Amino acid sequence: MRVHVCRPAADCPGHPTTTLVVDGELAIDAGALGWFAPPPEQARVRHVLLTHAHIDHVAGLPIFIDNVYQLSDEPPTVLGTPATLAALQSHVFNDTLMPDFVELGRRMAPFFRTHSLTPGTAVTLGRYTATPHAVDHTVPTVAFTIDDGTDAIAVVTDTAPVPALIETLASWPRVVAVYLEASFPTRMADLAVTTKHHTATDFLAVAERLAAAGLPVVPIHVKPRYAAEVLAELRAARRGNVMLDGL
Ligand SMILES: [Zn+2]
Ligand SMILES: [Zn+2]
Repeated sequence: MRVHVCRPAADCPGHPTTTLVVDGELAIDAGALGWFAPPPEQARVRHVLLTHAHIDHVAGLPIFIDNVYQLSDEPPTVLGTPATLAALQSHVFNDTLMPDFVELGRRMAPFFRTHSLTPGTAVTLGRYTATPHAVDHTVPTVAFTIDDGTDAIAVVTDTAPVPALIETLASWPRVVAVYLEASFPTRMADLAVTTKHHTATDFLAVAERLAAAGLPVVPIHVKPRYAAEVLAELRAARRGNVMLDGL
């Protein structure tokens, strides 16, 4: 399984928007999906799993949908919880920010399909099995495990610490890596609690637990403004299972 953490701008540190692309064909979040690659390459993405509706996770979705229209025989499928899909319809594809592609797609070739997710219920997407897991954010949000039958990864972002889920992931079949948010430096713990995110210290606590399970942890969702500070904290901890190459 090849996982690409999209960097929307090479000269901007951290991750101002969130998108991970698995094997070029499955995306987790769409923050940078509309410009991570040329349109024909974007069109290889068949399924887009959304953790939640916040703009840093969906900003690239309407651009992606526009870019790949009719580049494939079948339109891509966008998957999210009912709350996430409803937010997209109300606030993005609302004939104000973007055309109502859902309504337009009833009268012409569809732009995308949607699929509603229930936390705890796995879905089969081609050769992948994706399982959404409820987490603890300011709006309804899910983490994902993605399993291709050989390896699995977990993507946990936009949540306060969720130790019970981390215990589940530590023994989830075939998991080879956990992508975990590290939004803020530790000095901003108050803001992290209010906005339901992880600090570097929260991240490192999870890394310690997952080290015992032999699992690497990759920081994602690092706020650009604080990326240098977060990176310095993670580096200072000298944990061998914290992967810093992508930062
Ligand atoms: Zn976010
Ligand atoms: Zn969020």
